[in-house]
Amino acid sequence: MDSSKSKDSTNSGLQETNSDINDEEKNDLCPGFKDADAFVKYGLGAVLSATKASAGLPQTGDEYDFYRSFPGFQEFCESQGDKLLHCMSQIMQHHGCRSRMRDRNKLTGLEERFDLVVDSNDVILERVGILLDEADGVNRNQQPVMPAEFQPPKIVVSSWNRMGSSSGSRSETFRLLQAKNIARPQMKFKEKVDNSNTPFIPKIFIKPNAVKPLPSCKLLLTLIPEDLDVPAALADFIHQQRTQEHVEDMFAHPYQYELDHLTIQESMYKPLTETKCSFIDTLDDLVALNEKLCKLSEFAVDLEHHSYRSFLGLTCLIQISSREEDFIIDAIELRSELYILNEAFTDPAIVKVFHGADSDIEWLQRDFGLYVVNLFDTHQASRALNLARHSLDQLLKHFCNVNSEKRYQLADWRIRPLPDEMVQYARMDTHYLLYIYDCVRVQLLDFNHGQPGLLQSVWNKSKDISLKKYTKPIFTEESYLELQRKQKRSFNTQQLTAFRLLFAWRDKLARQEDESTGFTLPTHMMNKISEELPKEPQGIIACCNPVPPLVRQQVNELHLLVQQAREMPLLKVRKDGCQNILGLKQMYLFSELPVKQGVLFADDEPKMDVDVQKTSGLMAAAKITQFENDHESLSVAQMKARRIIECFENPFRMYLPSSDVHISKNAKFDPSSKIFEISKRWKLLSMEQQQKELEAKKEANKKAKEEAKERTKKVESLQNVATVRQQAAVSGGKKRERVASEVGESTPKPSKKQMKSAEKPQKTEPPPKDSFKPFDYSQSDLKVFAGTKSKDNTQFDPNRMLTICLFLLYRGFRHNWPKR
Ligand code: AMP
Ligand code: MN
Ligand code: ZN
Repeated sequence: MDSSKSKDSTNSGLQETNSDINDEEKNDLCPGFKDADAFVKYGLGAVLSATKASAGLPQTGDEYDFYRSFPGFQEFCESQGDKLLHCMSQIMQHHGCRSRMRDRNKLTGLEERFDLVVDSNDVILERVGILLDEADGVNRNQQPVMPAEFQPPKIVVSSWNRMGSSSGSRSETFRLLQAKNIARPQMKFKEKVDNSNTPFIPKIFIKPNAVKPLPSCKLLLTLIPEDLDVPAALADFIHQQRTQEHVEDMFAHPYQYELDHLTIQESMYKPLTETKCSFIDTLDDLVALNEKLCKLSEFAVDLEHHSYRSFLGLTCLIQISSREEDFIIDAIELRSELYILNEAFTDPAIVKVFHGADSDIEWLQRDFGLYVVNLFDTHQASRALNLARHSLDQLLKHFCNVNSEKRYQLADWRIRPLPDEMVQYARMDTHYLLYIYDCVRVQLLDFNHGQPGLLQSVWNKSKDISLKKYTKPIFTEESYLELQRKQKRSFNTQQLTAFRLLFAWRDKLARQEDESTGFTLPTHMMNKISEELPKEPQGIIACCNPVPPLVRQQVNELHLLVQQAREMPLLKVRKDGCQNILGLKQMYLFSELPVKQGVLFADDEPKMDVDVQKTSGLMAAAKITQFENDHESLSVAQMKARRIIECFENPFRMYLPSSDVHISKNAKFDPSSKIFEISKRWKLLSMEQQQKELEAKKEANKKAKEEAKERTKKVESLQNVATVRQQAAVSGGKKRERVASEVGESTPKPSKKQMKSAEKPQKTEPPPKDSFKPFDYSQSDLKVFAGTKSKDNTQFDPNRMLTICLFLLYRGFRHNWPKR
């Protein structure tokens, strides 16, 4: 009832001096009264006595008529009646109501006058209601108070708001916008502002994150506003409580205890023993983990990898740590589902902390199609800080005083179930990483005197790492030379040839059997065989200790290769082997070599085979020219010479697709060596076919570019889809398509796409009879896997296609987002 207007309405009925009220109200709400309460009390008292007095009046009917017969009574009634009517009329006028009550000559009937009173009552009471509601904040001002006049903003310039020190021009100052008669926002407050002259009591009555709950009295007391009408006894109690008892509790900082016991989370890691560690090997758990990660602002990641029994290598574990929990993901079990983590991994609002992420970034792409946006690499931070050493164990020692041993680093991470020691080891790699991330950031700033430059450089380097793209190891004509150069060994022509042939054999077999080149034939053994060029298969075995299983199985084939190498003319080769080969070719062409006259180039062909058999090495004469084109008219010997020359031009041509099978004469006539059968696999390509294939390749490249364009278009359309879940739904079909085409590559039947690209060149020239199939598992020598390995080898079964198709079908249904 402290609204001046509501008070006015009451006041005018009781006091006749209401004309002064507007002036006085600014200083005194209720003139003549101590406060509103006193005024209300007085008012209610007056109403009460008036009601009492009116009840004492003679009742209508006989009693009243009797009293009216006395002129004194009549006079009194009339004068009082006039007073009342005057008072009522004033009230009604004050509220802008129609009032013609004093016009006693116009007797318009009792009913009409009664209606006037009722109407006025309605208007006044409604107004009172509105004002009461406003005071309670219930009723938002129905007619918003608009600024009565808009004053152009006054610019206040002071020392605190002057921009820049020198200029201080008007345009550089802040503008304070002012307006009169702004609707008072306080009116909208649900709780009235407590301007009482009492100390502030914290407004909190629900305490989230409480370690210590609110004092019990507080809830009750704070819920009861000061001005609420409560029985006097309760009001006294509340007052007592508020002022005398529990004073300390009442006025204390509600989070005093929590703040006193706060350990800054960023500066500490949770002890390993107190941290929950979950092993994630089901899709449901992975989805739940992803949801968890999406809510974080940072998490740490590391990978464990296996590279020995796989050609490309495979990721076995992904470790992830938040500040609260550790997670170990079985990346073998969930290999085809892990892509869902892209939602968290590519979220720019979440920092992903790695240590030495270079390989991890590539492995994530290669195995799961996972990418990282917003990477922080603590290895890069360590380098920027110029720490003594940059390995993770050094950082652990330096920042966490934790001794980690790297003894499981090269463990076989494919083992399942994963032994507990390995789980513990694996989680150590990420558990402390967020803490190290905190430490190095502080140090990077300190190191640079608070300037962010150094820290920024670490972010930039990390970004560069996350931009790395996985590249598949591609076998080229130069591959062996790259390795050869790295080794800085000097080989003669025979040794280099052996090295080249062994390198190619190793690469092809490793891809075919999905083993690492290191498992197939370690480089040091390859070197030894090349150096020694053993004459017997047993000699090859002797070069290897222990003997790699694939070497033992294919020793005859290796022996043939070594024999081929031994057939090369013996010349020294400089370390930069490539040029020497060209030099060798020229020397070879221009007959600086020992020539057994009339053998290779004798005209009588029937003699040839016999002669060739007799020669231990291949001989050449100056007659041979590189540019001879007339294939048909070449003698057998000339053809053979041509092939040799072609070998030097392109040492790997013999491994390229061809129908023209190159078979060593020695091999052909050695029925025990199975060389004929083996040699079928090593094919020589004619120049003509080479040309054709080059053209086909160009066509295919063109096609690939077009396809890439289309793919980007598809990706663009995907980008419009908001969530990963939707993307997964949209790309479900696409992914299957991609998988299918991958499978196509490794199966004998070319996929539709491949067929298309192969069709084009067909129009102009006939294609090579066999197309190149680097992953032709169907042609794997299954026999060599007799014994314990046979089980493993079932994955190379051509029937695998059926399994894959079934799998894809199954995936197709399951690829919808998993239910949780
Ligand atoms: P880390 O990041 O140290 O956990 O290493 C991740 C993976 O990299 C390991 O699982 C290994 O496969 C591989 N790796 C780590 N260190 C070496 C090393 N010194 N030599 C070869 N591979 C390594
Ligand atoms: Mn790592
Ligand atoms: Zn690791």
